[in-house]
Amino acid sequence: MLEVSASKHGRIIRYRRLRRKAALRELVKETTVDVGSLVYPIFVKEGLERPEEIQAMPGIFRYPLEGAVEEIASAKAEGIKAFLLFGIPARKDELGSEAYNRNGIVQRLIRRVRENIGDDIVLITDVCLCQYTSHGHCGVVKNGYVRNDETLELLAAVAVSHAEAGADIVAPSAMMDHQVAAIREALDREGFTDIAIMGYSAKYASAFYAPFREAADSAPRFGDRRSYQMDWRNSREAMREIERDIEEGADIVMVKPALAYLDIISRAKQLFNHPIAAYNVSGEYSLIKYASQKGLLNKKQAICEVLTSIKRAGADIIITYHAREFAKWVKYSDVP
Ligand SMILES: [Zn+2]
Repeated sequence: MLEVSASKHGRIIRYRRLRRKAALRELVKETTVDVGSLVYPIFVKEGLERPEEIQAMPGIFRYPLEGAVEEIASAKAEGIKAFLLFGIPARKDELGSEAYNRNGIVQRLIRRVRENIGDDIVLITDVCLCQYTSHGHCGVVKNGYVRNDETLELLAAVAVSHAEAGADIVAPSAMMDHQVAAIREALDREGFTDIAIMGYSAKYASAFYAPFREAADSAPRFGDRRSYQMDWRNSREAMREIERDIEEGADIVMVKPALAYLDIISRAKQLFNHPIAAYNVSGEYSLIKYASQKGLLNKKQAICEVLTSIKRAGADIIITYHAREFAKWVKYSDVP
C-alpha cells in the first residue's frame, strides 16, 4: 500500500492538472446553461408604431403587436422556446381594467403568436396590475394602501383572460398573500386545469428593478412597494413564502432578483423538491450592458458567468434579457 505522508507527498494533489487546457476544463465542468432553460421577456405596447429601444436597457425594445410577434419568431429560430409577456396598455385606470380585458394587448399578442408561430413554444404571462393602474401599484388602492383581498379577484380575472387567449403558464407577480390559491381556483373553475402557475414567490423590494419601470412604465405614483414585496434582509421569510406558494398550487416557484439573492435560490433548492425559476432582472442586465459599453469588462464572459452562477446556485429556469444574445453564441458554438 502506498504510504502517503502529508508533509512529504502533500503535493500529489494538483488541481491545476485539469485546468491546463480548454478541452480538459470542458470535460470536468460541473454546470452548463442550456438555451432550453432560458425565458426571454417581451414588452408589447399598445398603439406603438415601431419598436422603441428602452433607454435604460440597451438592446431591449418595446414592441408594437406585430413587432412582438416578429421578435418571438426570430428568437424561436435561435432556439429560445419560452417567453414571458408584459403588456403596456394605451389606457390606465384605478382598477387596471385593461389587464383583464379579453381584447387587451397581451391577450391579443398571445392569439397572434398562436396563429402565426404555433403551439410549440411556451408562453408565460405576467399577472399583475402595476402596468395597468393609473397609480402604478400592483393592486386595488384604498386610502393610500394596497388592499390584498380585493386585489385577488382582479388577479384571478387577469389569469383567466390570459388562459383563454392561449397562455401555457400564468405568473402572478403582485406579491399579494394567497394570490396563487385565488388564481388556481379561478382557472380550475373556468376549465383551465392544465394551465400552470409560476409564482413570483420570493420577490424582493429591490433597487435592481429600476430600468424595468421605464420599460413597462410602471413606477408607483406614490410611496413604494415595500408593504407587499419582501424585505431584502430576510431569508427564512422567503422560505415560508415559497412553501406557501407550493401549498397553494404553484407549479414553479420564483426568486427575484437573482444575483443579490443566490443564497435564497440555493436554500430553496435544498429545501424544496420543486422547479425553481430565477429572474435575472433589468438592473442586473443594465449593469453589464453599461459596464461593457465603457470597456470595463468582457460582456460575453460576464453574461456567461452570471447565467452559470444562477444555474449553479440551483435555478432550473432563468428569466433573462440576455437570452437572445446567449442563444446566438450557443448556436455558433461561441460560448466562453
Ligand atoms: Zn406589479
